[in-house]
Amino acid sequence: MVDTALIIEELCAGGAGSTLAQMFMLNPIFGGVSISKYGSDQMRREWLPQLCDGRMTFCMALTEPDAGTNSLELRTIAARRNGGWSLNGQKIWITGVADADKMLVVARTTPLAEAPKKTFGISMFMIDVDREGLSHQPIEKVGTNTLASSTVFFDNVHVRDDELIGEVDQGWRQLLDVLNTERIVTTAGLVGAGRLAIALGVAYAKERRVFGGTAIGAYQAMQFPLAQRWAELEAAKLLNLKAASLFDNGLPFGSESNAAKLIASQAASAVAEHAMQIMGGMGYSREMHVERLWRDARLFRFAPVSEEMILNYIATANLGLPRSY
Ligand SMILES: Cc1cc2nc3c(=O)[nH]c(=O)nc-3n(C[C@H](O)[C@H](O)[C@H](O)COP(=O)(O)OP(=O)(O)OC[C@H]3O[C@@H](n4cnc5c(N)ncnc54)[C@H](O)[C@@H]3O)c2cc1C
Repeated sequence: MVDTALIIEELCAGGAGSTLAQMFMLNPIFGGVSISKYGSDQMRREWLPQLCDGRMTFCMALTEPDAGTNSLELRTIAARRNGGWSLNGQKIWITGVADADKMLVVARTTPLAEAPKKTFGISMFMIDVDREGLSHQPIEKVGTNTLASSTVFFDNVHVRDDELIGEVDQGWRQLLDVLNTERIVTTAGLVGAGRLAIALGVAYAKERRVFGGTAIGAYQAMQFPLAQRWAELEAAKLLNLKAASLFDNGLPFGSESNAAKLIASQAASAVAEHAMQIMGGMGYSREMHVERLWRDARLFRFAPVSEEMILNYIATANLGLPRSY
């Protein structure tokens, strides 16, 4: 995960911006982490080589119209049928479905009303995207247009028993490993995108002269927001590498990965905004690329996890304060 984070950061800093991190969520995280940590031996043998050489691509379907931040309230249900399962429900904002072979589906195998606790009754399945009864529809969105995001419908989709990932009804804890590594990848992309926005802003500020001979980059109003965000991005990077290293060593990493994502998403979003301010009118033109970085970075303040939920998590898990919701 440390190697992955470093590679993603450089690719994003080199011109792609934060959207590229999403591409690294699909195969290495949604496919790679789920199968390598919780898949059967047969899944590992058959699918991981195809994932590595690019023959098999993945996506993950967790979010629903009424279950985003409150993911434990998801309603997509997998009911026992004909020695397998029958899947019914709806998902939203599922990225990469149109290009994926496999979908990691998070569903209830015990309805919430019958579960002894909310975290019980969630299961993960790895199914074929082109299966009968599964349909999807792209959503028009503000940015991150490298990959489409779609609404997905399951209408009596047959799922085989051997497509279960991990243990039935115990998928919540396994899912957290997928979600928390998704944060590491997201942060790496945001640090790279932030570096790119700083580089574009600095280059423009050094050249642009508005009142006589002084370049606008000499004005502290132009400099300070760049310097502030540079410091935050460096801090986010180090915390993220700590999270990645903890994961690589099999240690808990949730607090570090979430906190790093919080800082990185705010810093990358703010620095893209400021780079646009530095460029004045030209920042608003497509030609300068900053508008793309600005649109893309905005997403990550509320996805894949919102900054409010990270603060809730830190307040309860790290500070021991009571839950407000
Ligand atoms: C472009 C894009 C791509 C995505 N890709 C995927 C994907 O591939 N797979 C997938 O499963 N999902 C995906 N998502 C979904 C994404 O993870 C969710 O949008 C995100 O988790 C937020 O859920 P929500 O949109 O339902 O917001 P809501 O849950 O409706 O939250 C709305 C607001 O309320 C705030 N809020 C809610 N509860 C609290 C609280 N207790 N305290 C304080 N504030 C609170 C939230 O922080 C947020 O700001 C994607 C979303 C987008 C936009």
